[in-house]
Amino acid sequence: MTRLLHRSPAFPPPVAAESSGILIRTADGRAIIDAAGGAAVSCLGHGHPAVIAAIREQVGKLAYVHSGAFSSAPAEELAECLVGHEPGGLSHAYFVSSGSEACEGAFKLARQYFLEVGQPGRTHFIARRQSYHGNTLGALAAGGNAGRRAPYAPLLPESFSHVSAPNAYRRPAGTSEADFVDVLEAELEAEFQRLGPASVAGFVAETVIGATAGAMPAPAGYLAMARRLCDRHGALLILDEVMCGMGRTGTTHAWEQDGASPDLQTIAKGLGGGYQPIAAVLMREPIFAAIRAGSGRLWHGHTYMNHPVACAAALAVQRTIASEGLLDRVQAMGERLSQRLNARFGNHPHVGDIRGRGLIQAIELVSDRAAKEPFDPALRLNERVKQAAFDLGLACYPSGGTVDGVRGDHVLLAPPYIVTAEEIDRIVEILGEAVDLALAS
Ligand code: PMP
Repeated sequence: MTRLLHRSPAFPPPVAAESSGILIRTADGRAIIDAAGGAAVSCLGHGHPAVIAAIREQVGKLAYVHSGAFSSAPAEELAECLVGHEPGGLSHAYFVSSGSEACEGAFKLARQYFLEVGQPGRTHFIARRQSYHGNTLGALAAGGNAGRRAPYAPLLPESFSHVSAPNAYRRPAGTSEADFVDVLEAELEAEFQRLGPASVAGFVAETVIGATAGAMPAPAGYLAMARRLCDRHGALLILDEVMCGMGRTGTTHAWEQDGASPDLQTIAKGLGGGYQPIAAVLMREPIFAAIRAGSGRLWHGHTYMNHPVACAAALAVQRTIASEGLLDRVQAMGERLSQRLNARFGNHPHVGDIRGRGLIQAIELVSDRAAKEPFDPALRLNERVKQAAFDLGLACYPSGGTVDGVRGDHVLLAPPYIVTAEEIDRIVEILGEAVDLALAS
């Protein structure tokens, strides 16, 4: 008997009872390897004593204050920790409770910024078809996942338009990656011109595409190209690193590996590592300064903004990543994961692509490897892989999306940064078995 309305297609879903390290134990006694950290959330694994202690201490001292009236030490310290050294010029932050709220907040902050600086006509955002920015109506309108959008149409069609994502795997045949970036540049430039550059507030992109493409970094030069076009047209570059940020790719921000930094950035999952619901909007100094000089404060807000306990938890997570040297570990284990995936699936007839960065990697399943032909969506192959893996004791994150009518089945792996080499090997071994079982069923 359950009185919860569940998201899981399994009814009722298995009940998670306890967790530690990379293991989740169910109430009926199974031990499941958390190979995706939920959806790239649990970066420290489960039960880290330093984070638990920080939450206990903070909740006893100050559990909640309204951000319209108060600041708090943990919120100030977390902002200092994230942007005190001004990475890529990002200098200020505020905190919310989910990735969707952060993306909505970033779009609204961009709108407020242009109102403050006297450019009220900049109301439009260009985003990409293969993208996911959250499930609230504005964030859903920004994203391009046709399946998730369809039931809620009409969304906010006048605010967002879409260009192609930098899907190097499905780039036009015979095109080099460098040529492909030129093609995408021409398309983005044409979209600016179609809209009228003075009407565009921002270009929105995931640095590494997560849910709709399964760990897809952009080809070299792509992000720098987007930065250049935004600068040329006076629009903001808004990077959504909700999934790929905060160490997941082996650097704190994924954009550090792409040679360009954003004006506005969202982060979430690896920020609090799942210990508390927390996300953030990071901004460059001119945006902060325009708002301070203008109306003086952020117009947008939520009840749980800058939540003290969530901020204390995130601060402990970030300090632990630094003190335990986990970025180096992500790089080393990421290399191992890539090697093992290539060894296991490199010649697999139904694995078309193996991709990712650091500890966010994925395989793309195809019915015909040479033609890159996806499986019939009706087969729901990624869901079947997920179930087969779960039955074998592995939680992975199947992601699939329909983009321009093409559906791809991806299986995403995003294990905690503390994962060991032996655990990586075991994860890939079980995934291999699960893929073969799902294909045979
Ligand atoms: N942006 C990206 C890139 C995401 O991966 C997600 C969540 N998968 C979101 C936004 C939305 O975050 P949330 O589910 O916390 O609202």
